[in-house]
Amino acid sequence: MKGRKLLMIPGPVEFEPAVLQAMGAPTCSHTAPAFIDIFGNCLGMMKKVWGCSDGQAFIMAGSGTLAMDMAGANLIEPGDRALVISTGYFGERYAELLKRYGAEVTILKSETGGTVPVSDIENSLKSTKYKLMTFTHVDTSTAVRVDPRPIGELGRKYNVLTILDGVCSVAGEEMQQNEWGIDVALTASQKAIGVPPGLALLVVSQKALEVWRTRRAPVGNYYCDWSNWLPIMQAYGDSRPSYFGTPAVNLVAALEVSLRMILDEGMENRIHRHWSIAKEFRSTMAGMGLKMLPLREEDAANTMSAVYFPEGVSGSDFLAAIAESGVIVAPGLLPSLKTKYFRVGHMGAVNNADINSTVAAIEKALKVLT
Ligand SMILES: *Cc1c(COP(=O)(O)O)cnc(C)c1O
Repeated sequence: MKGRKLLMIPGPVEFEPAVLQAMGAPTCSHTAPAFIDIFGNCLGMMKKVWGCSDGQAFIMAGSGTLAMDMAGANLIEPGDRALVISTGYFGERYAELLKRYGAEVTILKSETGGTVPVSDIENSLKSTKYKLMTFTHVDTSTAVRVDPRPIGELGRKYNVLTILDGVCSVAGEEMQQNEWGIDVALTASQKAIGVPPGLALLVVSQKALEVWRTRRAPVGNYYCDWSNWLPIMQAYGDSRPSYFGTPAVNLVAALEVSLRMILDEGMENRIHRHWSIAKEFRSTMAGMGLKMLPLREEDAANTMSAVYFPEGVSGSDFLAAIAESGVIVAPGLLPSLKTKYFRVGHMGAVNNADINSTVAAIEKALKVLT
């Protein structure tokens, strides 16, 4: 296609043609038997991708922030204490969100490009009784990945609900929600799940649903209230028609195609592909003398990278030069460093040819500007 550009930002990403085709099929009724099947299949496949066979999946029309909001609205009551483990921009967002529902929020902030030491998290949990804690699996502002395992363990040990913001990780990083004891793992369609923007996706543990059932106050957000949506998800799961709010029919059809492709590839193969592309990309950047924002390579994500601009080069000139080669990457997002780095998404349908084109575009920009 003439004028086509390669979209290498951390979401939305490039999508599989079969997924885009599914979106273009004629829209059917949200209660048509064929659509009920599609929706039910999606709920079942999500639990496989998340590694959470006994959880409850939710598919909502909305972006990733709605998924964050749904977890906050249903699990927080005024006065509840929440611990936010922040590795960047989206941790700060979760803190703001939880405060809207009346939470008393404590933020444990990492140094820029680093993670919060597990011992600091444990010390906080020892000194104060929290109802829940949130963390960002991959923070899209820093490309830092947090290991969910020890956080899930601490959640169990101190009986604190754990919420994993997986908007930039699910289907691109290892995810074992059950085994790790994560209560809510949430994402959005347009990142590693590989479907155009517009779906908020969550898998919720039975324990979290139990905590929600014993609320004293009603949920202070009408659209997000699980009282409205849990019966709908259960009905779709049991192949029965139901209605609360019209689902995003065409996006759900596309989701079914993408989830099937994800499971056909196999989770292990898929994570390995993301890992190997990320590793190759970063070692090539290092070879060009470009530095990464994450302080340690083992904390760097599989799904995206955050790269400092070369010394003495204007960021906007550099991004414009990359775009000249037909590749779109994203500017920085962390307020303190916004003009110092750029971000490259390498998730979903990404392949070696995409990465080679991206590397070539960066190499050419370097040559022209330095
Ligand atoms: C993209 C992203 C979000 C926000 O998702 P939207 O779909 O833009 O609302 C939240 N958290 C993380 C980690 C993200 O990458």
